[in-house]
Amino acid sequence: MQKPEVVAVQKIFERMKSFNTGRSLFEEMSEMGHEEVVYCYDKPTGLKAIIAIHNTVLGPALGGTRMWDYQSEGEALIDALRLARGMTLKAALSGLDLGGGKAVIMGDASSMKTEALMRRFGRFVDSLGGKYVTAEDVNMTEEDMENIAKETKYVTGQSENAGGAGDPSPHTAYGVYQGMRAACKKAYGDDRLEGKKILVQGVGHVGTYLLEYLKKEGAELYVTDLFEEKVRTAVDRFGAVPVKPGDAYELEMDIYSPCGLGAVLNDETIPKLKCRVIAGAANNQLLDDKLHGRMLLEYGILYAPDFLVNAGGLINVGLEYLGIWEPGVVRQKVERIYDTTIEILNQSQEKNISTQEAAIEAAMWRIEKAKNPKAAFRN
Ligand code: NAD
Repeated sequence: MQKPEVVAVQKIFERMKSFNTGRSLFEEMSEMGHEEVVYCYDKPTGLKAIIAIHNTVLGPALGGTRMWDYQSEGEALIDALRLARGMTLKAALSGLDLGGGKAVIMGDASSMKTEALMRRFGRFVDSLGGKYVTAEDVNMTEEDMENIAKETKYVTGQSENAGGAGDPSPHTAYGVYQGMRAACKKAYGDDRLEGKKILVQGVGHVGTYLLEYLKKEGAELYVTDLFEEKVRTAVDRFGAVPVKPGDAYELEMDIYSPCGLGAVLNDETIPKLKCRVIAGAANNQLLDDKLHGRMLLEYGILYAPDFLVNAGGLINVGLEYLGIWEPGVVRQKVERIYDTTIEILNQSQEKNISTQEAAIEAAMWRIEKAKNPKAAFRN
């Protein structure tokens, strides 16, 4: 069984194949707003990597490195560009003084990885002088990060053993919980989750921590996962009701929490959904930002944008990198996701735009404000 991130990446590529914009790299950069794209090549190690720096107005561009057996350079490039932009939005909405970037290494992680390749990549990261800061992403391990860190100090999100801030999942779950409460406040006029029927799709790292919060609040829990064993554990531990993966979208529920893979909100699933609120950890839940964000608005489903509510992990690694990591500060910043979610949902309502569009606007507004000190102070 493949990791959810891997499945999510595959789905995104399926989608990208139908995109074929026909635009040149400069046109793509101009359209999406990137500052810099760096191609890294090293014949002896076989390294082929692309580092996309989307925006450094608020601070260094932080974003993980993904290793993937891309079918073409174009596929790798679009992935890097798209992911880098997502990091900018996430950091801006979290109130972090960080920008957005992402790196992709082309190649099969199971056969191509060597210490030399990782260290060579680390030297490329280092050559950017801190403009880009890397971390773990799909198909990268703690060991890989340790090898990269031998060559550059521009690495974050390392394990506690390596002196880092450790597992981001509990922080991500806490942020999702805050975003979910805020969305309930907006949808039901009350942020208590007691008695709410909530489906957690994917009971992995984040899903399990999330269930702890939901259980404490007295929510009525439903769980689904591709692994039956994980479902059984959640049923025993949290008294949750098991749901077959295929039945998830049609379940009568108050809140749907996608914590498995991306692209789960699409033409096929949205019409089936019987919920008032969506708030979950999975990245890139909307198959198409504009189309499916708008569709949810039309169906009267309140969607808490993923890059807003799942930013707890980034807050944890971001504060680590900025040298201001402290448990109380992390918690405070993650708790702020509640207020930001309320603000974004209000804006969506006032402007009659999707919550996704409202969240993107708010993130870009913070960046514009930093560029133009005369702009009104917002937070
Ligand atoms: P994980 O691998 O620990 O758990 C994901 C679980 O989802 C797995 O048990 C998997 O079997 C299940 N799953 C996948 N597809 C499913 C489906 N269609 N139906 C039911 N279950 C399904 O991953 P995680 O670290 O808990 O992350 C969950 C999601 O949140 C991922 O999309 C990840 O990219 C995103 N995310 C995670 C963090 C973090 O801090 N870990 C931060 C931001 C975003």
